[in-house]
Amino acid sequence: MLILVQVLILLHVGLWVLLGGETITPIEPSEGMEFVKNGVINAGTIFFALALISTWIFGRWFCGWGCHIVFLQDWCYALLRKFGIRPKPFRVRLLAWVPLALGLYMFVWPLFYRIALAPWLQPNLRWPTITTDLTTSNFWESFVTPLMAIPFLFICGFATVYVLGAKGFCTYGCPYGGFFAPLDRVSPMRVQVNDNCAQCGKCTAACTSNVRVHEEVHLHKMVVDSGCMKTMDCIDACPNQALSVGFTGIATGKKIARKTQKYDVSIAGEFGIAAVFLIGFFSFRGLYASIPMLMAVGMSLVSTWIIWKGVQLFKEQNVSVHRHQLKFHGKLKPLGKLALLFSFLTLFFVMQSGAVQLLGFAGDSAAKNGDVQRALSYYKLSGPMIDGGIGFSSNPNVDLAMSKIHEARGDLQEGERLLRRLNNFVGEDQRATMLLGQNLQLHRDPQFVQEFYLETLKVNTHWTLIWEDYIAWLRREGRRDDAIDASFTANSTNPNAPRLQIQWELLHQ
Ligand code: SF4
Ligand code: SF4
Repeated sequence: MLILVQVLILLHVGLWVLLGGETITPIEPSEGMEFVKNGVINAGTIFFALALISTWIFGRWFCGWGCHIVFLQDWCYALLRKFGIRPKPFRVRLLAWVPLALGLYMFVWPLFYRIALAPWLQPNLRWPTITTDLTTSNFWESFVTPLMAIPFLFICGFATVYVLGAKGFCTYGCPYGGFFAPLDRVSPMRVQVNDNCAQCGKCTAACTSNVRVHEEVHLHKMVVDSGCMKTMDCIDACPNQALSVGFTGIATGKKIARKTQKYDVSIAGEFGIAAVFLIGFFSFRGLYASIPMLMAVGMSLVSTWIIWKGVQLFKEQNVSVHRHQLKFHGKLKPLGKLALLFSFLTLFFVMQSGAVQLLGFAGDSAAKNGDVQRALSYYKLSGPMIDGGIGFSSNPNVDLAMSKIHEARGDLQEGERLLRRLNNFVGEDQRATMLLGQNLQLHRDPQFVQEFYLETLKVNTHWTLIWEDYIAWLRREGRRDDAIDASFTANSTNPNAPRLQIQWELLHQ
């Protein structure tokens, strides 16, 4: 089923790429945020609503039967086992609240803000009208770039499975799981046991969701752990046909067997781990305007685990990772030294990322208060090392803010340099190109500006904003005939662009 889901996703993307034009909006739960924020009902909203309702009836089935990230995690888990690595679950308490907190932030906070806070903070904020948006021509708009998708798959696949266990991302990072888990507790459908159970534990061994199946069925006659994704692996693994799935009763008030197990850190350690996770999350989220929320969660979870291992290497006599001994009787092994170095580097990376973000915020704040010199200093420091900053990359938002300040001060060359860097960063982007063109109009000779527009429009004939700017510039240059010719070409190639039509009419007045 999970392979089929992958095939359907590829088919959806493939048809959109090959055929172009309109397609169904992404069938992805995060798209539901558009509804709580802007009242837009898209395919993702409908899909997430159906997933929630069906979870209430059938339990947490979606994760095991329909989630592409679970497929990725299962595949990574199987691959790691092929190489003799048996990922163990990382057992902590506070991080288990991350999925619910994220889910509430994504889907409940926007509504809470509108209902409870906006009347005080933004009295003019209106409720959006409910609209539908079931098709799109820009399918990839809300997704990360393919370049960012590769580290995303690595972090949320191999890395989280290796350090947090088979369903590590589901347990500590998935915001949808934050809703599915409590709904599963009040769902009547669950794995149940008959009298054939011999307590052999094979069901528990087969479960990649870390459910203590044999203990739970012994205690409650059914599985009550909301980590159960109804994959039925335990049912297959049972040699006595003792397990089945059916409507058997809700799990409210029944203790999860996993909770009786030993945790990997002390209570004090839990708070330390939660603090490192939060610092990591806020340091990574939106870093270089590139890291989306879920990837920041994955990166922070993995970084937190690595830093925790480093702390263990300092404090404890014996430390191991899976089958590898890093420290034995107080003596660091060569692998332990490497792990310690890696842990230091990870800590440094988190702190450096946090500093980059803080400098960016400090720049925004100074710019808001009119202290542009200070803003420029902060922005520059948050930039890439090759440009005098402390970061690994530029940030297009920061480059835009800096270019505006330089342009306002008359330093148009520096503004151009930053806008060119912004353009290189974002790739083919109409708005970024428009800003660069507007800068060039202010200080480059007409020949240069003309070539810039002609080259851009030769490749991107559908960029109506660029056509508008180009035609308006020709008009301002006193080249009315050239403007009319350009407007004719623009309207011929973009017959449904009303602003270009208005421009055409105005040129003939
Ligand atoms: S193996 Fe059993 S307990 Fe584990 S997730 Fe699948 S159905 Fe649930
Ligand atoms: S595998 Fe079957 S018999 Fe063994 S503990 Fe699980 S339910 Fe009982």
